[in-house]
Amino acid sequence: MSDVSIQFSNSYARLPERFFAHQNPDPVAQPELIKLNAGLAEKLDLDIAVLSSDEMANVFAGNLVPSGAEPISLAYAGHQFGGWSPQLGDGRAVLLGEVVDRDGVRRDIQLKGSGRTPFSRGGDGRAALGPVLREYIVSEAMHAMGVPTTRALAAVKTGEEVLREGLLPGAILTRIASSHVRVGTFEFFAARHDEDGIRTLADYVIERHYPEAKNAEQPYIALLGAVVSRQAVLVSKWFQLGFIHGVMNTDNTSVAGETIDYGPCAFMDEYHPRKVFSSIDRQSRYAFGNQASVLQWNLAQLAQCLVSIVNLDMDEAVALAQVEVNAFPEKFEAELVTGLRAKLGLLSEHEGDLALAFELLEAMANDKADFTNTFRGLADAIDGDVAKVRGHFEDMEAFEAWLTKWLPRVEQEDRPLAESAAAIRSVNPAVIPRNHLVEAAIRAGEDNDDFGPFNALVDEVTRPFDTRSNDSIYISPPRPDEIVHQTFCGT
Ligand code: AMP
Ligand code: MG
Repeated sequence: MSDVSIQFSNSYARLPERFFAHQNPDPVAQPELIKLNAGLAEKLDLDIAVLSSDEMANVFAGNLVPSGAEPISLAYAGHQFGGWSPQLGDGRAVLLGEVVDRDGVRRDIQLKGSGRTPFSRGGDGRAALGPVLREYIVSEAMHAMGVPTTRALAAVKTGEEVLREGLLPGAILTRIASSHVRVGTFEFFAARHDEDGIRTLADYVIERHYPEAKNAEQPYIALLGAVVSRQAVLVSKWFQLGFIHGVMNTDNTSVAGETIDYGPCAFMDEYHPRKVFSSIDRQSRYAFGNQASVLQWNLAQLAQCLVSIVNLDMDEAVALAQVEVNAFPEKFEAELVTGLRAKLGLLSEHEGDLALAFELLEAMANDKADFTNTFRGLADAIDGDVAKVRGHFEDMEAFEAWLTKWLPRVEQEDRPLAESAAAIRSVNPAVIPRNHLVEAAIRAGEDNDDFGPFNALVDEVTRPFDTRSNDSIYISPPRPDEIVHQTFCGT
């Protein structure tokens, strides 16, 4: 087999040995390529178009480790559902290495599902096909909708079975991330009272993600503030799309501010702030409406790790860190109001804008309105087709009352109505990865080895803002018998 060459530029593997374990991926029986993300490969400047489909399958299954790769599994800890887990780490993933993409941004190339590692604990180190397909679909949809996220470069079948609730086909996802440093990575060192480790990690993160923090009077406080800002942006974008992450543990919170670790995640069809899909979230800790406060809690854990390395006495360091963490709700709300204004097609800023948006959300919750189609439908209402959006509400009274406040606002804006409608369509997707479509794509792949529905769904969700014909299955909410009530972690 020919040597596969990737221009790796590895930095994490240069960190001290206690940050990771050297770990080659475990070869699998029969690698088969399901999908390659050619556009992303190009962006990463990977010369893999020259490879045969077999060679690609071997690379993305971990059977062929490209030269220059230094496969490592990363150490981390974390708070899971509020409880402390001192030892997590990449139990089923290896970081093959890093590349610098065409925009000059360093990206991790990780194989997820690549076999056991020193961090596997009781797990088998593998991934089932279903969760791999789900992560591929949802992460690429998120990217297309402008949400910071890890991405999917490839999916392969392993030709092996994994034991979950039954025997399932195994698969591996090649994940691309700005980095894989999590809040839980800091916690790993903090729990070991390893201040050198925290400092080394913080310096690494500043260098890679927040170079401007270097010049601040207190670089580690500036780092904290910068992470707070990025997470405020991220969680507000989730809110604007009706996205529920499902497992917002600190080990699933990226310090680069990307959505990471798509497990039992879901987009809502009918809007409700207390919506939960994850089968393991029994206390509704990670319900839609809790995501901002949970993220702030996660940031407080990061703050606790960082105060120990701030060059001040402890009380002063804690006070400064507290200010940054306390700024989260305000930053989140500022992002949210800007985003919601755009979703409503408003240009000018009025004091009551947030209240106006929440009045609509309340009517949607009471009337079981479809989140995506209601917002998208506001453009139709501007075009004169009010009936279409009204149809999403069980009882129209509250919505009608809301319309009489909102429409005049749009009409008063300093732009033609057609432009306002177009603006609404440019931020409110027509197509999201609806749970029933994701499930159908997984079923076809898992049961019939048919990846047609998966490929079609990826095509659709990666052009989310294009208007579809009224009879497109990709814009329809599920029929009652298609509704997905629960999603599973799939680990
Ligand atoms: P997750 O729920 O995917 O965020 O994973 C939580 C922790 O469990 C991480 O340390 C994972 O590496 C580990 N883990 C999840 N699934 C497996 C598996 N099949 N084998 C080994 N470790 C796993
Ligand atoms: Mg995780």
